[in-house]
Amino acid sequence: MKQLVAFDLDGTLADSKQPLGEAMGDALAALLAVAHVAVISGGDWPQFQKQVASRLPESADRSRLWLMPTTGTKLYTHGADGWSAVYAELFDDGQKAAILAAFDAALEATGFVPEQTWGERIEDRGSQITFSALGQQAPIHAKEGWDPDFAKRKIIQADLRQRLPGLSINMGGATSIDITREGVDKAYGLQKLRDASGIALDAMLFIGDAIFPGGNDYPAKQLGLDTVRVRDPQETLAVIAGLVACLK
Ligand SMILES: [Mg+2]
Repeated sequence: MKQLVAFDLDGTLADSKQPLGEAMGDALAALLAVAHVAVISGGDWPQFQKQVASRLPESADRSRLWLMPTTGTKLYTHGADGWSAVYAELFDDGQKAAILAAFDAALEATGFVPEQTWGERIEDRGSQITFSALGQQAPIHAKEGWDPDFAKRKIIQADLRQRLPGLSINMGGATSIDITREGVDKAYGLQKLRDASGIALDAMLFIGDAIFPGGNDYPAKQLGLDTVRVRDPQETLAVIAGLVACLK
């Protein structure tokens, strides 16, 4: 018996970046009367609020709704005071300090310590940290001249990978390197959901439009969940109607 139905958002519950249609809001409300419901997608919370949370009918039982922005690195639930984050896997001050120290060490070790920097070198984007070698206020001409062919950063990147295991390290703009956690996908998010909800993976059903090798819903299937692949939100409505009839 399934206790929880997890959905992809874009292409499954709604058209890409669009709010849920009224029929989908009603369908989710009907499903929430018989099961827990989760939504997991790469977008951040403001996007979830706009597309999902604000589109549910008054009657929907939000206490059984689990919203997982940024592929499950954040979890929001609804309580007496409205929506709030149960957790958000942001880099903490200690991790940020460790990342900054690793950069200093890497620049030193590779011989690429810049002669001058402008402003803060670390920018915190929540679940992503961006390191700008010359600082965020560096003038364009200095940035353009520093590493036009990525040669310096390839060497720094290789050095950093040794210093920061478990993190994904990739080159960004003219002088920047982006750092995120490694291995964040929907399988990762669904395991976080299992831990937070206490609902076993085999009591979950996953519904998405990209359940095929290379699709961003495929990790749910690889994790071993029962899945239903849908073509579009229209088909999702039909699947939900069937589920409601079976679970009620
Ligand atoms: Mg999708």
